[in-house]
Amino acid sequence: MDISSLQKCIGDQQAYRLRQIKRALYVDLVEDWQYVTTLPKNLRELLARSCPLDIHADVQISGDNFTVKALMHLIDGKRIETVLMRHEDGRRTVCVSSQVGCPLGCTFCATGRGGFSRNLTIDEIVEQVLFWNRYLKPSAEKVTNVVFMGMGEPLLNYSNVLSAIRTLNDPDGFGIGARRISISTSGIAPKIRKLANELLQVNLALSLHAPNDCIRSQLMPINKQFPLKQVMSAVSDYVTKTNRQVMFEYLMIRGVNDADEQARELAVLVDHPLYFINLIPYNPTGAYQPSSSATIRRFKQILLRAGRHVTQRYGFGQDIAAACGQLAAKNNGSPRRTS
Ligand code: SF4
Repeated sequence: MDISSLQKCIGDQQAYRLRQIKRALYVDLVEDWQYVTTLPKNLRELLARSCPLDIHADVQISGDNFTVKALMHLIDGKRIETVLMRHEDGRRTVCVSSQVGCPLGCTFCATGRGGFSRNLTIDEIVEQVLFWNRYLKPSAEKVTNVVFMGMGEPLLNYSNVLSAIRTLNDPDGFGIGARRISISTSGIAPKIRKLANELLQVNLALSLHAPNDCIRSQLMPINKQFPLKQVMSAVSDYVTKTNRQVMFEYLMIRGVNDADEQARELAVLVDHPLYFINLIPYNPTGAYQPSSSATIRRFKQILLRAGRHVTQRYGFGQDIAAACGQLAAKNNGSPRRTS
């Protein structure tokens, strides 16, 4: 799909035409321009030639039926993964990718091990949400939440991610409220400060995963460039400017970051009424082992006793490698179309 060619196609036609087109695309979810009968025939033909609406992807459904993963085929033959999570409370959350691969090489992450290819375009980001809305349409459901937690570091593709968020936010389009959109970063400190000035109501999550620089640099090489002091100062600035909560994601990795002493260090580091810690059982990707349930319980108790706000994430879609840190888009190679 090439949504950006839309604007060129409609040229200087009146604004209501653009609204009709956006409605057809993002609300009615048409997959063929010929069905958009509100548009004149010649415009439909032009759009069909220059902005075809097909999206190519292979879908895998987890055994529990709550998680669906799609391997999307991009125009240049690259592949990315995106995941739909169906929550029992009715939320339909889509985890989107922001880059093909990732340059940051976190040692626990399957995406990081595969290297980096390129940034995704605005269209390629938006298309992931469009794909899932089309997927959900037969059951009269739609995407309610979007998290930038898929492949790549979203703040390294800053302007495309922000433009995509504005498209997702547009009341004439998907109409997904900013408070239902989350950006998860590995800690690109200057971009966190920049985001604070955007006056967007999006949620910020920091992939922390360690209570000190020594362990964090071992897990996340980006920590050498932006050590914890810089990152925590940027997050504090973000909270001061936005008055928004910040989530600190903490993967529980056996024998690496799950000792009692590390829980106490974490409690000191993450100490603000608007901070909360999300403990995530590590999803095996070959590099490390997950902490035991007993260890996670003890770790959580130490944080709770210290007065920290702690949540624990349910592990979605491990059987289809759709869980946090498992996205890898295997076969990222030559052009191939499936449908
Ligand atoms: S965890 Fe995120 S930032 Fe780190 S390598 Fe994976 S995708 Fe990149």
